[in-house]
Amino acid sequence: MEDELLLMLPGPVPLPERVRAVMARQAINHRGAEFGNAYADIVRVLKGLFGTKNNPLVISGSGTAGMEAAVANFGKGRKMAHLINGKFGERMYTIGQRYASEARPIESEWGTPLSLEGLKSALEDGCEVVTMVHNETSAGILNPAGEVGKICRKHDALFIMDGVTSIGGDLVKADDWGVDIAVVGSQKCLAAPAGLAAVSVSDRAWDRVVKNPPYYLDLPAYKKNAVREPMETPYTPAVPLFLALREACLIIEEEGIDARIARHHRMAGAVRKAVKAWGLEMFPQIDSLHTYSNTVTAACIPTGSNDKDFRGIVKKLGIQIAGGQDHLKDKIFRIGHMGAVSAPELLATLAATEYAIRTTGHQVRESGVMAAAEDLG
Ligand code: PLP
Repeated sequence: MEDELLLMLPGPVPLPERVRAVMARQAINHRGAEFGNAYADIVRVLKGLFGTKNNPLVISGSGTAGMEAAVANFGKGRKMAHLINGKFGERMYTIGQRYASEARPIESEWGTPLSLEGLKSALEDGCEVVTMVHNETSAGILNPAGEVGKICRKHDALFIMDGVTSIGGDLVKADDWGVDIAVVGSQKCLAAPAGLAAVSVSDRAWDRVVKNPPYYLDLPAYKKNAVREPMETPYTPAVPLFLALREACLIIEEEGIDARIARHHRMAGAVRKAVKAWGLEMFPQIDSLHTYSNTVTAACIPTGSNDKDFRGIVKKLGIQIAGGQDHLKDKIFRIGHMGAVSAPELLATLAATEYAIRTTGHQVRESGVMAAAEDLG
């Protein structure tokens, strides 16, 4: 059954029992202390995960709503530059095309390093707002947010960072890195249900917020409501999702942010060891600034195999991993290791993947499960 599959995707991820349980309760008023306290708990934990002193605003909408809120409130009518090395970088550019006076793509092949030289010339050419995807989920590459932030500050540009699949799973220091607007999605590293986005905004960005923001995604209105006692949102929020996100945040707080990031790094390291043992190629091409993602691993599908057969075998064993998106379909597979993922879940995933690799005819160099197990004990 579909709902019994172990989701080892780069979102959505399996939900801890406690998170599922709170969604089953009776409705509550969203203008009252109980809701306000839940929102306050979420903000307290997210601040630590974003690495910011600013209170993230929570929007009822998926990660893309957060991306659109960022662009519409800070890039509308302005000249924007979009760093692209995967699907979500492209999406930011597409959103920019709807709002910016000029949207300039700075393109690299998916999974290859961003062009920081291209960024510098766009900024010298008057671009005022920059977008970058921190963890490019489509390609499994982690982009250098700190470097991009430094360049943006030098040119006094606003820096919008999509942290949809990094925040909560990898180190993010929005304030130290010069990130003005950061976005996370609930169904990724936070291990909450899909449907909420959170957006943090720096003081210098608030000073430059556009005069005519969209109605539903009006971030100044979210800010005004979030400073009320009890905290509120401008319109009726997805209350059950807020309660679930609060529970997910409390679980994160119990684990500890440093421990959580260390766990994600350990899981990612184990998957990379498995890929190497199998004799498969990692997909991203990294350099001294760009590294492999610590929340999703993208590797090349064994030659001679195709996505449907390959992932079909894994699925038959009860585990769902992701394929490549768009032109990467049939070329790569992706294993998500974000959220509450445990060593036994990861080992089962690697065992099923190894089985698929072997049964589709690839001669593995050595067992990836054995290689990974050494790091997971
Ligand atoms: N940004 C990144 C890096 C993502 O991985 C995703 C979803 O996979 C999104 C944005 C879009 O988020 P959503 O699907 O929640 O709208």
